Amino acid sequence: MSKDAEGAGFRPVVGIDLGTTNSSVAYIREGTPYVIPSPEGDVLLPSCVLIDTQDRVIIGKHARDGLVAMPDRSVAAIKRSMGSTAPVTLAGKKFLPEEISALILKELRSYLIPIFGEEDIEAVITVPAYFSDAQRRATKRAGELAGFIVERIINEPTAAALAYGLNHSQGHKNILVYDLGGGTFDVSVVTVDQGVLEVRSSNGNRQLGGEDFDWRLVDWMAERVQSQFGVDPRDNLRARALLKDLAEHIKWTLSSENTATVESPVLLVDNGTPIMLSTEITRKEFVQLIQPWLNETMALVSDVLSQANLTPQDIHDILMVGGSTRIPQVQSMISEYFQQTVHSEIDPDLAVALGAAVEAGLKSGALSESGLVVTDVAPFSMGIAVAEPLSAGRWGPGFFSPIISRNTTIPCTRTTTVTTVDNGQTEVEVEVFQGEDRMVANNFALGSFRLTGIPPAMAGEEPIQVTFRYNLNGILEASAQIISTKKTQKIVVHDGLERQSAASFQASQARLESLWAHGPEVTEQEDALDAFDTMEDEFGGEGDMLAGVVPAGNQSDAANDLHQEAEITLADLAPYLSHRSPKISGKAKLLVKNLEAAANQGNLAALQDALDEATDLLFEWEASF
Ligand code: AMP
Repeated sequence: MSKDAEGAGFRPVVGIDLGTTNSSVAYIREGTPYVIPSPEGDVLLPSCVLIDTQDRVIIGKHARDGLVAMPDRSVAAIKRSMGSTAPVTLAGKKFLPEEISALILKELRSYLIPIFGEEDIEAVITVPAYFSDAQRRATKRAGELAGFIVERIINEPTAAALAYGLNHSQGHKNILVYDLGGGTFDVSVVTVDQGVLEVRSSNGNRQLGGEDFDWRLVDWMAERVQSQFGVDPRDNLRARALLKDLAEHIKWTLSSENTATVESPVLLVDNGTPIMLSTEITRKEFVQLIQPWLNETMALVSDVLSQANLTPQDIHDILMVGGSTRIPQVQSMISEYFQQTVHSEIDPDLAVALGAAVEAGLKSGALSESGLVVTDVAPFSMGIAVAEPLSAGRWGPGFFSPIISRNTTIPCTRTTTVTTVDNGQTEVEVEVFQGEDRMVANNFALGSFRLTGIPPAMAGEEPIQVTFRYNLNGILEASAQIISTKKTQKIVVHDGLERQSAASFQASQARLESLWAHGPEVTEQEDALDAFDTMEDEFGGEGDMLAGVVPAGNQSDAANDLHQEAEITLADLAPYLSHRSPKISGKAKLLVKNLEAAANQGNLAALQDALDEATDLLFEWEASF
């Protein structure tokens, strides 16, 4: 183990670029970031997974070779599906996207054994700036399934700026990060101010990259074969695989040469006739073929500048990231648009991993003397559940009131003021959520706490200040203070990204373990997917609609919540059972009967219906008596 790997109490922390096309891992050695190669010496691991006919798991270039020939047994570009709960079928078996990514990360993990041994390793993993909360959670989960302690998820453009050491810039700078990889395009504006980095705006197209250029060249070659032999080589699986491979090599050649020779003596044999391809393509012709995609990237560049309220003249540095920025036309197009030379000194395939290693170094202490402060943006909104007025005297619970909005620069502190909704109310339940939906039921519950001891007053007259502090490690501190008495209550949510159910995580882990051993058992997988569905229902599905500033129960378990709510509602209904109006007392008795029956039967849907009906009537009765 090297001095930097273990020295002076540093825990091993690595930076990982989990890319659509390629992935890599880097760490800080003697103050400098290095990419850790595979045992064969490769610094890039193709993000491809193949399960061969003997159920062996193959990751990387050999898996990539099987992509066209064995489409049912291989998978690429899984990053595009991250966050989705739709399973991917591989060799007849179902996997979640993060499980496929975990296989890739586990392969990278194996490169670290010669340096760090088997000890626990923390990881900083990068994601596109536009990744949603669900996609970030899936990435974090993939890292954990691969055996890493995922220390931080950071944005790729932030990592690129760190790799270029732009923290050392004096004063204020606007940096444009143009990232054109194999399967995705991202463009972001990052600002640096007195060493503080911040993503100002970000844009992208998840379906645009070097792969599109390869397939366009495949079409170009196939058209030539077709006009000469009347045969479409794309119909033949082997010929299609050959053409795809050829296309990528032609593309690479045209990044350094003006002309590429295309030679394939036997693409396929058709009715005993060998079908061959022998031609040439110039860089200019290639650029014409890919121009529509390049134009699209320029439109996104223009959009991202508008979002940041900047003009091309306001940009001080342009960083070229992603393998496809090696195409000379890409660089000249950007230089021309911004009227300045672009930075491509750092290998564009490795810049993100190297930057993640810098972040890892800052975290571990290996680089802490640099004094660099990194900021990022909140990938999702965080706020509280509140009741909102519906009509005269009536309140509707379960509305989401964001306190830290999505894309706010973090670390940050934000405050809002709420009030009680009932006369004489002495307690509130502060429920913390994240997400973008207007109703909390469709967002993620992060936790809740009860603020008691509110001096009894008329509704709306006792203000309560709610403050959220969110730091770069995803730690959210939510506090509420009764302004008149200064009484404060708070919770700390230790990881805003951490909400997976332990059961579904273990199910995924078991599935991958069995795959690493012999290939997974189908029944076990299906159980695991069911468990995951349950988790999704729990977090993303129905949820309950308890109000934020009216007393409410614990949010953690949907069934418990409903039963608790039923108890409160039964107590609220009690005075109406002996109401002088037989119509009201009769209705109250019926509601009590329905609530009790649904609760006793454990029928949550019926219980929710009965509760909705009771709540509506209670609102009405309370308003009129
Ligand atoms: P990335 O996703 O950043 O790893 O980029 C991978 C993409 O970069 C693939 O589509 C590669 O074919 C492409 N690429 C790598 N080297 C070159 C090159 N010299 N010229 C053009 N494209 C390249």
